[in-house]
Amino acid sequence: VSDIIEASSIVLARGPRSPEVYLVCRSPQLRFMGGFHAFPGGKVNPEDHHIAQSIPGLTTRHVAAIRELFEEVGVLLARHRATGTFPTAVEQLPALRRELLADKLSFADLLQRLNLTLDPGDLRPVVNLVTPSFSPLRFDTAFFTAVLPPGQEAEVWPGELSSGCWHSADAMLQLWEQGEVLVAPPTIALLEALRGRMAEELAERFQPIREMLAAGIMAPIWFSPAVRMVPLFCQGLAPSTHTNAYLVGTGRVYLLDPGPVDPGEQALLLGVLDDERAAGRALSAVVLTHHHPDHIGAAVVCARHAGVPILAHPRTADLLAGKVPVDRFIQPGDKLDLGPAPHGRGRWHLEALHTPGHAPGHLAFYEPSYRLLFAGDMVSMLSSVVIAPPEGDLSLYLDSLRRLQTYPIRLLLPAHGGPSARPATVLEEALAHRHKREQQLLQALKPEPRPVKELAEELYRGLSAGVVKQLAELQVLAGLQKLQRAGQAHFEAAGWRLI
Ligand SMILES: [Zn+2]
Repeated sequence: VSDIIEASSIVLARGPRSPEVYLVCRSPQLRFMGGFHAFPGGKVNPEDHHIAQSIPGLTTRHVAAIRELFEEVGVLLARHRATGTFPTAVEQLPALRRELLADKLSFADLLQRLNLTLDPGDLRPVVNLVTPSFSPLRFDTAFFTAVLPPGQEAEVWPGELSSGCWHSADAMLQLWEQGEVLVAPPTIALLEALRGRMAEELAERFQPIREMLAAGIMAPIWFSPAVRMVPLFCQGLAPSTHTNAYLVGTGRVYLLDPGPVDPGEQALLLGVLDDERAAGRALSAVVLTHHHPDHIGAAVVCARHAGVPILAHPRTADLLAGKVPVDRFIQPGDKLDLGPAPHGRGRWHLEALHTPGHAPGHLAFYEPSYRLLFAGDMVSMLSSVVIAPPEGDLSLYLDSLRRLQTYPIRLLLPAHGGPSARPATVLEEALAHRHKREQQLLQALKPEPRPVKELAEELYRGLSAGVVKQLAELQVLAGLQKLQRAGQAHFEAAGWRLI
């Protein structure tokens, strides 16, 4: 179980009864949710506890919310002790913010210097949301609403955040539907609840979602319009414990990679399918990216439940014979119609790309209007991808990665780990990692033959016996087979040697 980090976030309204709220854009270079818009906020730090203890009714989450808002956008929700008024922008706030960001000043000292105190009444609690299990980095975030104090302005200083802007929920959701911005899933949920409303009404509007969460129902996770991610527990190859299923489409809806075998997880997924059908998005087909057990566990259950066919590449169908009946083949280049697109300019579709290497029948799917790539196991956000012979083929895998590089992908949605808005970097890093491993293998090879076991021990030091070690040996074998084909390595009874 990963650690869950406490955090706070503020939905800041531009004024009393204003529909506009402040959104920040995370820098595209950040690994976690880089390039996504979100509400300002961040982690609780140890100093927040001390401040909270000194003021009745104030919690650590309140302090973290107020401090993060000041650090990220320069708005200070603190009041003068004597008058109860807010400080204004002219009162050395930018200089103090700079010192705070440079760790030259603590937030407690800043408050003391201006003779300010914090009032829990300035923040209205909305909901606590926990990052779903797709991410190893998980936050338990307390969301609040607040109003911009008179005389202050919100401003992002480029760094971890690249920009900030005031938008009504309706305007921001429209930009999102048009594919012009990426927005973090909890922010989408909050903006949906804010549609046509004022921030003051948010807590009340969020009541149904709070009830849903209290009942243990998974709140929808939208990473792009009409793209719902459903992360489910599936014991795959270490370190992956979850597989992301995706529900994609408007008029026609496809379920990609329903992985779980566990009955409880299957029931969760069937519940999601029922909710979606009730919302007018009945399932059209189950689609498998490849044949591995952590991608197919609920395929038959879901297909029967919804009365829809199972679709996959012919090679995947062969490998699943006797286990999962594949009703229709998907050939490279096939287009799966998704119905009228959320952006309102015609229809949208998924294009099937045959990307062998990890598995012989592996398919990835490209959606051209939002430039999404459903990557299956081509890349993982948790580790490098396992290439295990005889099904795994390193040369084919590298060719497939290079082919994906030719697509102008904006958002990469993998089967394991969180989506990435830096697909070019992710693909480049995957290739670079393989190149590094190949160089290590070439250095380990000698003119005298060495067994695979010995080479694996040298390349993957410190692995204990068991599945992980077997996988390491298979990865080395994949590398050796690639070198053999290139005429750089030779196999004989005693092992592998350099040519
Ligand atoms: Zn796989």
